[in-house]
Amino acid sequence: MKKLLVSILAVSAMMTLCACGASSSNKLVMATNAAFPPYEYIEGKEIVGIDAEIAKLIADDLGKELIIEDMAFDSIIAAVQSGKADIAMAGMTVTEDRKQNINFSDPYTEAAQVIVVKNDSTVASPDDLAGKRIGVQIGTTGDIYAEDIENAEIERYSKYFEAINALLQDKIDAVIVDREPGKVFVSENPELKMIDEEFTVEEYAIGVAKENTELLDQINASLKKLKDSGKIDEIIGKYIKAE
Ligand code: GLN
Repeated sequence: MKKLLVSILAVSAMMTLCACGASSSNKLVMATNAAFPPYEYIEGKEIVGIDAEIAKLIADDLGKELIIEDMAFDSIIAAVQSGKADIAMAGMTVTEDRKQNINFSDPYTEAAQVIVVKNDSTVASPDDLAGKRIGVQIGTTGDIYAEDIENAEIERYSKYFEAINALLQDKIDAVIVDREPGKVFVSENPELKMIDEEFTVEEYAIGVAKENTELLDQINASLKKLKDSGKIDEIIGKYIKAE
């Protein structure tokens, strides 16, 4: 009995520690999925990319150490809600549904969903996707849009790379993906092309737990400084070359 009580006390002490949370610590923990170039990807042993660089500048500005946690895209929101991470930064599109679960900072860049197909595909516009086998990354806005396509068969992958591989093997007819990662995948695979017509325009922002309004305010203030000084454009320009 005594032993049980001790362990209950230990657990509650741990929980108290967790509740005072990452935000009041000197660390800024970012939840991401590092398979989304040029926003976040692994180079050597490091996670690099636009989001990683912007997050580093925000952490510096807040006097915190940036820690990046790599996980499945569809685990990121839960990680922020539970306090396992302070921020979600993963080329994450602001959506009404997600706003039910987390708060978003001011947007830091624009994005779009595009279609990637094989060079010989007859798909030339979003309308041609009806009845096709479409690959998406699970839990993304591409996944959500695919659901609206008439008679489409949706194949959900845990990583875009897997969807691209399935496309190369003709297991699916098209992949719906964000524009810049789509460009990277096409540049790496000469058998693939991107359909020019973008079928949604979106905005990326940083996700923060609902109750963590202090951090949200700090992030928005940092983002404003970084936008005004041209730093955000500079980082984006380093990874995305103007055509
Ligand atoms: N922008 C898309 C979304 O938010 C995809 C993001 C991602 O896969 N990292 O759903």
